Amino acid sequence: MFSQEMKDDLKTTLEEIESQGLMKKERVLSTPQGAKIRTRTTDGSEVTSINFCANNYLGLGDSTEIIQAAAETMRARGYGLSSVRFICGTQDIHKELEAQVSEFLGTDDTILYAACFDANGGVFEPLLGAEDAIISDALNHASIIDGVRLCKATRFRYEHSDMEDLERCLNEAADARYRLICTDGVFSMDGDIARLPEICQLAERYNALVMVDECHATGVLGATGRGTAEHFGLEGRVDIITTTFGKALGGASGGCVSGRREIVALLRQRSRPYLFSNTLAPAVVGGTLKAIELLSGSSKHIDRLRENATYFKERMTAAGFKIPDNASAIVPVMLYDEKLALQAAEMLLEQGIYVIGFAYPVVPKGKARIRVQLSAAHTHDQLDHAVAAFTEVGTELGVIEPTGR
Ligand SMILES: *Cc1c(COP(=O)(O)O)cnc(C)c1O
Repeated sequence: MFSQEMKDDLKTTLEEIESQGLMKKERVLSTPQGAKIRTRTTDGSEVTSINFCANNYLGLGDSTEIIQAAAETMRARGYGLSSVRFICGTQDIHKELEAQVSEFLGTDDTILYAACFDANGGVFEPLLGAEDAIISDALNHASIIDGVRLCKATRFRYEHSDMEDLERCLNEAADARYRLICTDGVFSMDGDIARLPEICQLAERYNALVMVDECHATGVLGATGRGTAEHFGLEGRVDIITTTFGKALGGASGGCVSGRREIVALLRQRSRPYLFSNTLAPAVVGGTLKAIELLSGSSKHIDRLRENATYFKERMTAAGFKIPDNASAIVPVMLYDEKLALQAAEMLLEQGIYVIGFAYPVVPKGKARIRVQLSAAHTHDQLDHAVAAFTEVGTELGVIEPTGR
C-alpha cells in the first residue's frame, strides 16, 4: 500500500533535492532536434535559441535523408515486432545493421541492444565471473558502473586517466583469471579523450582485455568518425566497443556491443538485456543504416564538425576563456564557481544560446562549468553569436577581462 508514511518520505526527499538546487527540470522543445530549437525560458516565454547541448554532433537529428530512410523502412518492415530478437524479433535489416556497424568499426561482429545503457548493462556478467577483475576509470558512465555491479568480477577503480593508478590496479588484479580494463573513449563532462595508447600498452604488458565505450566518440573522433581507436591509429587493438545510435548517428535510440567474434556470440546466448528486451524498431534500424551509409560515403559531416569545433575554441580562447585543447566536440567553459555557472547559463538562454551549467555533484566542487557541445549543423554565424553572448555574459559576471579579446 502506498502509505502516508511513504508519501511523506518521498516528499521530504524531493524537498531536499529542490533545496540543494539539484532538481532537474525538463526543457520542452516544440521542434525537431537541431542547431535551432524553440523552447521556453524558466518564466514561460517562448524563445528560439541556438542549441549547444545536444549530442547531435553530426547534425543528423533532422536529416531529411535519414527521416526518409526511416519512413521507408517502417513502410516495408512495419512499426514494431513485439518480440525479443531470439523469438521472432530479428529481421533482415537487424542483421544488416549488425554487419554494417562491424564493417564501420572494423570489428568481427556486433550485437544490437535497445540502448547503450543496456549494452553496458549486459556486457560484463556473461563474460566474467568471480575469478576475474574489471578495472574501470573513475569517471566512466553510469551504465558501466551499473553493468559492473551486475557482474561477480572483482572491481577496481583507477583515478581518472591516471596510468600509474591503472597499473596499480593491474598489479593488484594479477591473480585474476581475466582482467578487463574499461574506459569511456570521450568523457562527457570534460570532453577529454581516454589515453588509449598507454591503456593498450598496459593491457598488453599485464595481459588484460580492453573495452571502450564510444558513445561520445563514434562519428566524432578519427578522420572518418570510427572513434577513439582511429584517432590514435589503434584499430583492431580494442577487444570490446560499446556505442550508441542515440548520439551522432541520428540520435534516435539503440546501442550495441561490437568486438571479438566469440565475445559477441556468447552475449547472444547469455546477455540479459538482449534476451529479455524488445528488438529495435524497424524505423530506427533503417535510420541508423542510413546514418552509417552517410558517414561511410563522405567525411563532410565530420569535417564540418571538426572545423566548427576548432573555430569555436579559437574564438573563445581569444575572448579570454580557458578552453581545454582536445579533439572532441565537447567544450567545457570553466567558470569554477557553482552559482556563476548556473547564472551564466540562464543569462545565455536569454540571449538565445541554449547551454547547460554543470555544478557539484555532477562535476567536482569548484569545477563548475558550462558545457558546450558543437554540431556540424551550426553555422559560423551561430558560433559567432555564441562567442559574442559568452563574451558579454563573461564580462558582466567578471569571469573574463572586458578587454579580453
Ligand atoms: C549516452 C551514453 C550512454 C548511454 O547511451 P544510450 O544509448 O542513450 O543508452 C552510455 N555510455 C556513455 C559514455 C554515454 O555517453
